[in-house]
Amino acid sequence: MQKSEKQHEQRTELLQQIQALAQVAIFGNATESYRTCGNPGCRCHREGPKHGPHLYISFHSEKGTRNTYVPKAAQQTVRDGLEAWKQLQIRLHELAEMNKKHALDSARQQDDEP
Ligand SMILES: [Zn+2]
Repeated sequence: MQKSEKQHEQRTELLQQIQALAQVAIFGNATESYRTCGNPGCRCHREGPKHGPHLYISFHSEKGTRNTYVPKAAQQTVRDGLEAWKQLQIRLHELAEMNKKHALDSARQQDDEP
C-alpha cells in the first residue's frame, strides 16, 4: 500500500471515530456524593453507610461551579458520554497533528520546486 493511501485510511477512520464520539459526548466532570436522608432514625445518620453514590455532572462557568444531578436511569449513559468526551479530545489532537504534518509536508514539497 502507498504511504499516502495508508494515511488517508487512518484519517478516514479517525474522522469516523470522532463523529461517533461527538454524537454521545457529554461535557463536564463526574462528581459522586454520599448523603444523609430526611429520616432521622435512618442508619445514615449514625454509623452509616450513607446513601449513594449520587452522580452529578459538574462544570465551571462564569457563575461558578454548576452541578447537575443525574437520575439513576441516566447514570450509565452519562458516564459513557463523559468518557466519550475525553476520547474525543484525544482523537481531535491526533487529527490536528495529522493536519499540521500534512500542511507542513505539502509546503515543504512546494519549497523544493524551483
Ligand atoms: Zn438515610
